[in-house]
Amino acid sequence: MDRFVRFLRRQIDIDLELHSQARSDEEAGNAVHRCLVGPLRGFRECELKSRLLAQHDRCGTGGGPCDTLGTSYPPEDERGCLTRALLGLPYADRPGYAPRWRP
Ligand SMILES: [Zn+2]
Repeated sequence: MDRFVRFLRRQIDIDLELHSQARSDEEAGNAVHRCLVGPLRGFRECELKSRLLAQHDRCGTGGGPCDTLGTSYPPEDERGCLTRALLGLPYADRPGYAPRWRP
């Protein structure tokens, strides 16, 4: 698995942990919403990102849907395809995100 996909999966895992913590705080009556997205919506967004990533997991290797459509990035571009590149955009300010990954 390439570095970019590992990075994306790690960020989704971090988000899930943050949403779990927010839900626990909410259940304990200590909810401090730092943003407008509540834990349930956060979980759904993580599921969306995970499913999209799974669908495009092989793009750029010759076996992904974007390879079939002829829209994948060349093999040397670890982003694989535009969908994967866009999935990384919300994490552009997190440690480990490479500037070359910007869509
Ligand atoms: Zn793709």
